[in-house]
Amino acid sequence: MTPITSFAGKRVAVFGLGASGLVSAQALVAGGADVVVWDDHRPGREKAAAAGLKLEDFVTADMTGIESLVLAPGVPLTHPYPHWIVVKAKAAGVEIIGDIELFIRERAHIAPKSPFVAITGTNGKSTTTALVAHLYQTFGYEVEVGGNIGVPVLALNPPSDKRVHVIECSSFQIDLAPSLNPSFGVLLNITVDHLDRHGTMEHYSGIKERLVAKANVAIVGVDDDICAGIAQKLRAQGRTVVPISIHHPAIPDGIVLEGTRLVRKQGGVASPIADLAGIPSLRGTHNGQNAAAAVAALGPHGFELELVQKGLETFPGLAHRMEEIGYRGKVLYINDSKATNADAAEKALLSLDDIYWILGGRAKEGGIGPLQPLFHKVAKAYLIGEAAEPFAKVIGEAIPYEFCGTIDRAVESATRDAEAASTSAPVVLLSPACASFDQFPNFEKRGDKFREVVLAKLAEPPI
Ligand code: ADP
Repeated sequence: MTPITSFAGKRVAVFGLGASGLVSAQALVAGGADVVVWDDHRPGREKAAAAGLKLEDFVTADMTGIESLVLAPGVPLTHPYPHWIVVKAKAAGVEIIGDIELFIRERAHIAPKSPFVAITGTNGKSTTTALVAHLYQTFGYEVEVGGNIGVPVLALNPPSDKRVHVIECSSFQIDLAPSLNPSFGVLLNITVDHLDRHGTMEHYSGIKERLVAKANVAIVGVDDDICAGIAQKLRAQGRTVVPISIHHPAIPDGIVLEGTRLVRKQGGVASPIADLAGIPSLRGTHNGQNAAAAVAALGPHGFELELVQKGLETFPGLAHRMEEIGYRGKVLYINDSKATNADAAEKALLSLDDIYWILGGRAKEGGIGPLQPLFHKVAKAYLIGEAAEPFAKVIGEAIPYEFCGTIDRAVESATRDAEAASTSAPVVLLSPACASFDQFPNFEKRGDKFREVVLAKLAEPPI
């Protein structure tokens, strides 16, 4: 844990008692703050009480004397409307911050020069975070990895000059971290997502921009217009920017993808860094963007080519993101349950051929319309969940499809068809382009179900 000493002796309120809220409260207590906690829901309050934290009903409590309100990132700060605790804290003039802000202030206090990589983007955050952590480990560093990817930042060991913190930040977390000043800030890309919680695209991209605005080195994917604009603006302000591009390898400076090779560009001069060919955990050009950004976040170590190549080759990848489950005969099974929107599913379709595509769930705005140009890569679609009917309408006559309802039926049908195909390398792909909430609590459970069904299939002999 990272005790938060900068609030010692002060009264701090923590609202939202999920994993990160509980750890924030404990870290503040460990640092000597007087902490009171609350949650709208009883299970959170019960957990807090069991952990020995002091509950205070903020609905009725007076907020005078409270230094800061530490808000869980899941509690609406602005959209669709501010939560009542936000309104109350603002009316009382209490600043509202999150756990990452607590970490930043503690770092400024105890180890301001400690290496700190912060990562955001609409897609690719977790992959890049895990890859940066893995690369630093390859270079022999002690690495603390967390934030939006699993372990809450304050559950990690405290910052020190000898260890690297690699922290994934969601836009909700950035919104609660006004002082965010990483050594390396990575902004991968910005596309439409989460507008329900952020209102407009301007607001959403403004939040993402804050992750790189005060970074010592701003690493920015410049393939979308919004991020390209942000990179340009930062450069005009005299900040150090490393542009990342997979679509414009001719840019004069930065790290680009040429075919499967990562190449460093300096003043128009190209020098090779590494080759991603044949690395299963980094399939697809989108992973080229993630790998390029990760190498940039190594700073000077990015020039130690042999170790960089070794680190990339040994990256195990993450569950539910283009995760290879295995082969049954010639059929490869890939779990990309994390693809909860069309943009993410597009990356899977681009990375593969001869696809037996399992998709559906709870549709997001825009549905699968944007994927139409890639339908030619799909041998057949297997539709599950609420989105089946509307998706079938979009697919129309373009490719064959089958209504399967559930994942197990879809795996059954896709296996049957893929095994019978005359082609040599069919792929059964779960890349739903939908949220999972109609049938599963989250995308992990959906991917786990797919893995379980597929592993059972792999245990049977092929037909
Ligand atoms: P995040 O943490 O931002 O949700 P992940 O690394 O978990 O991102 O990847 C989620 C999905 O997004 C992957 O399954 C893949 O389909 C897609 N994806 C990964 N990296 C990128 C990228 N750089 N650009 C666009 N899509 C990506």
